[in-house]
Amino acid sequence: MKIPRSHPRYESLVRREQLVRAWKEGIVAPEGLIAHGRGEAWDYLFGEGTSAPALVAERAAAAYLVSARRPVISVNGNVAALGGRDVVQLAKAIPARIEVNLFHRSEDRVKRIVRLLERFGAKDVLGLRPNARIPGLASRRALSHREGIFSADVVLVPLEDGDRAEALARMKKTVISIDLNPLSRTSQRSTIPVVDELSRALKNIEKFVKELRSDPKEVARLRRGYARADNLRAVYSFLQWRLDRLRRGVPARSRPGRKRASLRKT
Ligand code: ATP
Repeated sequence: MKIPRSHPRYESLVRREQLVRAWKEGIVAPEGLIAHGRGEAWDYLFGEGTSAPALVAERAAAAYLVSARRPVISVNGNVAALGGRDVVQLAKAIPARIEVNLFHRSEDRVKRIVRLLERFGAKDVLGLRPNARIPGLASRRALSHREGIFSADVVLVPLEDGDRAEALARMKKTVISIDLNPLSRTSQRSTIPVVDELSRALKNIEKFVKELRSDPKEVARLRRGYARADNLRAVYSFLQWRLDRLRRGVPARSRPGRKRASLRKT
């Protein structure tokens, strides 16, 4: 389907088309389409832009990723379909390993996702021959690689489910989630919840990684200064501010200054 650029929901419709195409190609599970809808609803509430608190979390995430000993990015079907290229670029910038981990796992789907990531330039993608298990997880999601997620110190888990985020945190890993739902168990359990849309978040984190790679002092300052609970409180305050404006009749899509969101607000 050709979506006209002038359509007010152009980007959202393009994402849906990407997901449906990826579902037809055996990359996305049908359940992934439903999970996407939940994310879209939250993005409406946030005004479809990165909030100031999300930027703060993205910068902290970048600081943890560049200073990690063994950083790994976990990829599922939706992440591959919507942000595959962004993941590969971020992994190169850090540099980090990529591991495919699926809730609805099939060997065929893992292979297809690995191939897609390789087309975007990824090398040595893990996921096909897992040789370890994450303790405390009954499902096939527990399957992992010793040289990947199992022994990682910092794991980026975009669009994760709460059980695995919790299990990874129990292993004392720094868990960075990307999830538009601040109330999901994932956002509640992860060490650094990034409450933002997947591709916006990946691009922002990559930009911050490039800035921070050569600035260890700033990395240390960010690691010290990031306060998870305060940041989530700022996310809720932001939502409240949005809803107050809507209550007062300010149009939903009007977010003056959103591109200039200050990093000092939280
Ligand atoms: P949990 O188990 O953590 O409580 P859940 O049951 O909602 O969460 P999933 O069904 O796996 O978990 O959904 C994945 C999450 O990803 C949802 O919370 C949804 O809001 C979020 N999400 C979906 N699409 C996007 C996207 N493009 N960007 C950011 N977040 C998204």
